[in-house]
Amino acid sequence: MTQNVLETKVGAFEARMLLRRRMLGVAGVKEANQHTSTAVEAELRTSVINCFNCDNDASCMDWLATAREGVLPPYFCQNHDTIMRLKAMSQSKGESK
Ligand code: SF4
Repeated sequence: MTQNVLETKVGAFEARMLLRRRMLGVAGVKEANQHTSTAVEAELRTSVINCFNCDNDASCMDWLATAREGVLPPYFCQNHDTIMRLKAMSQSKGESK
């Protein structure tokens, strides 16, 4: 029983992190690499927490199903501001679209 509850929670977390990765990817934000700055790492950690606490996963899935590459994240996304900061950071380093 405990294991099933744990598996359910882990599965839900992984599903949420998949949405997070898809949202970052659609917005044109590249995930961390070895040369990531402390500021970028902090924003990426924030994005994990925001996604974990988000209640908009159904809207998120609907939005991602029709989202085009490079569009800005929707305002209902709790990571909207975080993603905009990550985009600005990567653009200042010449890494983003
Ligand atoms: S809408 Fe919610 S679940 Fe989707 S990426 Fe944004 S914070 Fe994560």
